Amino acid sequence: MIGGRLRLGESLARHSSWRVGGAAERFYLPATIEDLVGFLRNFSYGPITWLGLGSNVLVRDGGIPGTVVCLAHGLDQMATGEHGELVVEAGVSAVKLAHFAARAGLAGAEFLAGIPGTLGGCLAMNAGAHGGETWPLVEWVELLHPNGELERRPAAAFQVGYRSVRGQGDACFVRAGLRLPSGEPEALRAQLRAWQNQRAATQPLAWPSCGSVFRNPPGDYAARLIEAAGLKGRRIGDAEVSTQHANFILNRGQARARDIEALVVEVQEAVRKRFDVVLRPEMRVLGEDFDD
Ligand SMILES: Cc1cc2nc3c(=O)[nH]c(=O)nc-3n(C[C@H](O)[C@H](O)[C@H](O)COP(=O)(O)OP(=O)(O)OC[C@H]3O[C@@H](n4cnc5c(N)ncnc54)[C@H](O)[C@@H]3O)c2cc1C
Repeated sequence: MIGGRLRLGESLARHSSWRVGGAAERFYLPATIEDLVGFLRNFSYGPITWLGLGSNVLVRDGGIPGTVVCLAHGLDQMATGEHGELVVEAGVSAVKLAHFAARAGLAGAEFLAGIPGTLGGCLAMNAGAHGGETWPLVEWVELLHPNGELERRPAAAFQVGYRSVRGQGDACFVRAGLRLPSGEPEALRAQLRAWQNQRAATQPLAWPSCGSVFRNPPGDYAARLIEAAGLKGRRIGDAEVSTQHANFILNRGQARARDIEALVVEVQEAVRKRFDVVLRPEMRVLGEDFDD
């Protein structure tokens, strides 16, 4: 018997923060790591795509063939490990982790409170904000390979850079041991709230998006370049370059993935022509184009 839930033809627009994209051929939601191990060993079929809360992916309109394994909504345990580290499963949301750590007087995770993803997604992206990044908090991770084999590795086994991590191959992160220094809970919570308020004041959070679309080029800001190229408010279909924060592309209603992708290319071209800078997307494009 399959532990967890398996659905056929699940719309991925429901599972991506941009609210666009086609369906997953098979969509699997494990409740626990054991569910996922059992599924991979006995019921796996076709290529596997790992998904967290879908807050940094553009799912194309033709959807994703094979199996999408969504680790959000399960794998949600947090505990103290045998060597005093904080052991967190990959489906725990970054927001929940940040609040939990602050309440427990553990410092360094406050920046995660503004990131609408899972710990697994933060590990895969080396998510960061306000000068903090995910991987400096990590002591070890557990990987689960597509054949169902679990493996623990130290953080030093990975090559970590700005919004990038290499070394996991086609495995997913299922658990991490975090080492956080002590802090004063009230001060940590005040910092966390201040950063949340700052985001609410400066980011266009009322419309679906993936946050910042492009990485900042060395020594500059993607938002500054996009704004200076006159692209704020530029629209293809219902996809729009935010007038508030130029590195956000918003879904203003019925945008399709192809509208967003076309706008991404247009922004890249305009910035390259005007400033000779190539903007590299931060979000990941998944799946296939719709064939009409
Ligand atoms: C409003 C808004 C604000 C944002 N602000 C920030 C910010 O300040 N800083 C920042 O860094 N990001 C930010 N983001 C982007 C996003 O929240 C982060 O990149 C987050 O870490 C993605 O987590 P996720 O669970 O949503 O991953 P997903 O979007 O589901 O997946 C992202 C990638 O990681 C892979 N992946 C997901 N889970 C796993 C896993 N367990 N094992 C292996 N691979 C996996 C997926 O295959 C995909 O390639 C923002 C997004 C939004 C919508």
